[in-house]
Amino acid sequence: MKALVYHGPGEKSWDSVPLPHISKPTDAIVRVVKTTICGTDLHILKGDVPAVTKGRILGHEGIGIIQETGDAVSNFKKGDHVLISCITSCGKCEYCKRQMYAHCEDGGWILGHLIDGTQAEYVRIPHADNSLYHVPPGEDEEALVMLSDILPTGFEIGVLYGTVKPGDIVAIVGAGPVGMAALLTARFFSPSEIIMIDVDESRLSMAKKFGATKTINSACGNVAEIVLAQTKDGVDVAIEAVGMPQTFDICQNIVRPGGHIANIGVHGKSVDFQIQKLWIQNITLTTGLVNTNTTPMLLKTVESKELVPGNLITHRFTFDQFLKAYDVFGNAAAEKALKVIISNT
Ligand SMILES: [Zn+2]
Ligand SMILES: [Zn+2]
Repeated sequence: MKALVYHGPGEKSWDSVPLPHISKPTDAIVRVVKTTICGTDLHILKGDVPAVTKGRILGHEGIGIIQETGDAVSNFKKGDHVLISCITSCGKCEYCKRQMYAHCEDGGWILGHLIDGTQAEYVRIPHADNSLYHVPPGEDEEALVMLSDILPTGFEIGVLYGTVKPGDIVAIVGAGPVGMAALLTARFFSPSEIIMIDVDESRLSMAKKFGATKTINSACGNVAEIVLAQTKDGVDVAIEAVGMPQTFDICQNIVRPGGHIANIGVHGKSVDFQIQKLWIQNITLTTGLVNTNTTPMLLKTVESKELVPGNLITHRFTFDQFLKAYDVFGNAAAEKALKVIISNT
């Protein structure tokens, strides 16, 4: 089969590799129909995730058809149409019992990280009963690819951990795919304002279409001063969806007393946490890796059209154009790319 293989920092290729096989009775083999590229894949290619070794097939998102199941898989059978979760969960360990699937003792984020991933014609899914979801009949496959990772990530780690409430002022720093997912799902709770902050004008104009009430281009001055001037004393919830010291700083400078900073960004460096100012402000700071425990709920909101995640897709490719898809996603600003879909046709 063909697959996108990591060959060390800066090196990848579209290779012929052996087909995956059932290695445990709880496994399923899925024929990948549609997949995408995540910002995390770009981090891996830069060499920021040393746990990923040479020869690894990347990717942790996708939709497919079950090809084969192990003897212990009971929820799925050959031919079933499935959504692949970016998080693998055994369903039995202490963390799984607490719905903290991100920390599953025999799973978590392993696809395209510690085991071969979804940017391939076929993928082995461990603990298939707990790590796959049935695709509702007639649903838009492309839209559902957004449920593998970005929508649950924006919703759980941004909106729920940030405890967005009706009437809140919410600021989202970073209008990339996960920031946009936080924007779309923050609207479930009817905040009075959603302020989107980014350096990219085309992403800010997309954010307006998705329901941002205000946008601020952080290249145009001191964002914290602008936010404080436009609010009584800051925001109730500041969602960090970039992962840099400067963007974390914006969040800690705009959060109001009693507010929440919800960090989603993948940080490669330490930040300067202003505890000497914030100790008296009754704020909460949360961090996290997505658990995907909200995926069944999000599926229902997509079915009811409350959530229309297909709008996040800007570019489409076929599997033989995989390297081109990486070029476009890797130059997102110049290409005006948000999410790309790659189809196995
Ligand atoms: Zn991802
Ligand atoms: Zn577990």
